[in-house]
Amino acid sequence: MPAVECTDLVLRYGATTAVDGVSLQADAGEVVAVLGPNGAGKTTTIETLEGYRTPDAGRVRVLGLDPRAEHRALVSRIGVMLQSGGVYPMLSPRRALELFRGYYPDPEPTDALLELVGLRAVESTPWRHLSGGEQQRVSLALALVGRPEVVFLDEPTAGVDPEGRIGLRAIISGLRERGTCVLMATHELTEAERLADRMVVVGAGRVLAHGTPAQLAEAGGDRPSVRFTSRAGLDTAAIAAALGAGVVEDGNGTYTLDTEPSPRLTADLATWLADHDAALVELRTTASLEETYLSLVGSDNDKPDGDPAPVRRRIRGTR
Ligand code: ADP
Repeated sequence: MPAVECTDLVLRYGATTAVDGVSLQADAGEVVAVLGPNGAGKTTTIETLEGYRTPDAGRVRVLGLDPRAEHRALVSRIGVMLQSGGVYPMLSPRRALELFRGYYPDPEPTDALLELVGLRAVESTPWRHLSGGEQQRVSLALALVGRPEVVFLDEPTAGVDPEGRIGLRAIISGLRERGTCVLMATHELTEAERLADRMVVVGAGRVLAHGTPAQLAEAGGDRPSVRFTSRAGLDTAAIAAALGAGVVEDGNGTYTLDTEPSPRLTADLATWLADHDAALVELRTTASLEETYLSLVGSDNDKPDGDPAPVRRRIRGTR
């Protein structure tokens, strides 16, 4: 039995269909990222799994339980990190944790949690005086108080500085090792790639692709892709003649070759560049995860709000 499972989930807000037939699974000891641009339906999906929304259609199970109908049985077994706040402004991290410990049968010790999320130095500071990153860490600690079997994280890296991100990654790895199932919503591809065992890419309320980061990168490579970076303004006609392949400069000294990658091509390209006193700064012969992602969700996916970017191309899911 998967720890988290939803099948053909549909959720509407009036005339807006926020989630339009999403199916996904996550197992114990697995970190799964629901990745997509703003407005894709990530939060709505997660909130439904947490039991805070009633599906308009589809089936949702967490640890085998219906998160709405069996919320009471489930609530002490899951941990929820909310996207923003939820803590009384005058409460310190220590007091908040002590309060939350009372809700669980076998809570983590407060000191261990403060240590884990690196909040010892500010344990007595009221919530409203904490920095954004510190507030995020309090929310994370609160999600972990009850030793949850499933943890839901919504944009856990939002507003977290690089050092904090490293700490967060370590905590999530620790949860995986413990056998916890972690389901996180994020619009940050790099974080999803670093943290997740598997990704479910969503856009406009639908699953566009899913698989491991490597599978997704590979799935985007259904067209030959050789890209290299050198100085701008090289003679593309001369390169094309030397290599027997079409060449276009994408701008800023990045070029795409219209051919299959091969050792011969690499050697010929390096020779041509050397003969023309041009450095080979970068050469990539496979599609990157970023290219796959952008081809799925469009390139302006980091808009702060508004409609999701149009889906340009779909690829088959992998699992
Ligand atoms: P994401 O988490 O991927 O940014 P959301 O699940 O928050 O996406 O939102 C999906 C869609 O549903 C968006 O179009 C959003 O504007 C809409 N939406 C979200 N919450 C509400 C709400 N409470 N009422 C009406 N529309 C909403």
